[in-house]
Amino acid sequence: MITDGKLLVGASCSPDSWNGNTLLVGRIVELFYADEVDDPHSVELALSICEGCPVVDRCLDAGIDEEYGVWGGTTAEERITIRKGRRAAKRRA
Ligand code: SF4
Repeated sequence: MITDGKLLVGASCSPDSWNGNTLLVGRIVELFYADEVDDPHSVELALSICEGCPVVDRCLDAGIDEEYGVWGGTTAEERITIRKGRRAAKRRA
């Protein structure tokens, strides 16, 4: 997540974890929950932040079923594809 222009790595981007800092929550929600069609620039920025995040794998595991937002370096559309791939792999196993 970003605060005062600095990237804080290792922090969860979940709004629940920002200790009631409503200004920060608002900024992060705008970025990580931006609409992929209406605001692709914010989505790209959020994804670029994920690239340097040390908890990206854990975050993707936690957010794999989330319908909205950027989680673990993926968009909602990308997670649909990942879920389908995982289900197909399970069927083949
Ligand atoms: S992977 Fe992305 S969304 Fe998840 S905690 Fe890291 S920066 Fe936030």
